[in-house]
Amino acid sequence: MTTALAAPDTVLAGAIRRGADINAYKCYQCKRCTAGCPVAGYAGLHPAQIVRAVQLGDLDSIMADKFIWLCTGCQTCSTRCPQEIDVAGIMDELRILAYEHDLVRKDAPFAGILKYNADSFKRWGRMYELELLARDKLTRPSSMTDDLVLGVKMVAKGKIGFLPSTGGDRAQMKRMVEAAERIERQRRTGGASPPAAESPDAPPSGGEGGRS
Ligand code: SF4
Ligand code: SF4
Repeated sequence: MTTALAAPDTVLAGAIRRGADINAYKCYQCKRCTAGCPVAGYAGLHPAQIVRAVQLGDLDSIMADKFIWLCTGCQTCSTRCPQEIDVAGIMDELRILAYEHDLVRKDAPFAGILKYNADSFKRWGRMYELELLARDKLTRPSSMTDDLVLGVKMVAKGKIGFLPSTGGDRAQMKRMVEAAERIERQRRTGGASPPAAESPDAPPSGGEGGRS
């Protein structure tokens, strides 16, 4: 009984391991990832705490915090980790889990933009900035005035096109997205189930790298 109560919930770490092939249990909380992170300090949790929460299976705390939506994917944490844990990959996987299982906070910064980016790329084979902006402003009308000056400047400099790109490689890009989605579907066996329903992986006994 006591052993069961003391054991960590390994389900979330197992899902990260299966989804991204990253072993969070190698983390020994040196916090070098946090020290190098440009957005640590702007949320309730920081990278080392996120990894700790993964070890403990505390998905609720991670999803209640905004850190994974602030993460820029700069990879500094992964480069600094003495255990070669791909911390940025863990953030990616947590965002994927959030989308897959409808756990995205309504006020999550940039969560909508990330989805609109992906949708735009799938639809057009390229980023279609005007569509992306329109979708963002429709869901966040209060931000319209905030970005007005910047938007005018970007249009003046030709950074925002009024029509989607029609480059010759558009069809190839769309095929590439479809192939990537197909591979991802095949890789994610059991991806339709929420993490809590997946079978746990036991923490390793040690000596294994973050990505194997
Ligand atoms: S740098 Fe690596 S070992 Fe250190 S706290 Fe971050 S994830 Fe854990
Ligand atoms: S990838 Fe994300 S978590 Fe890692 S250092 Fe960059 S912003 Fe921080």
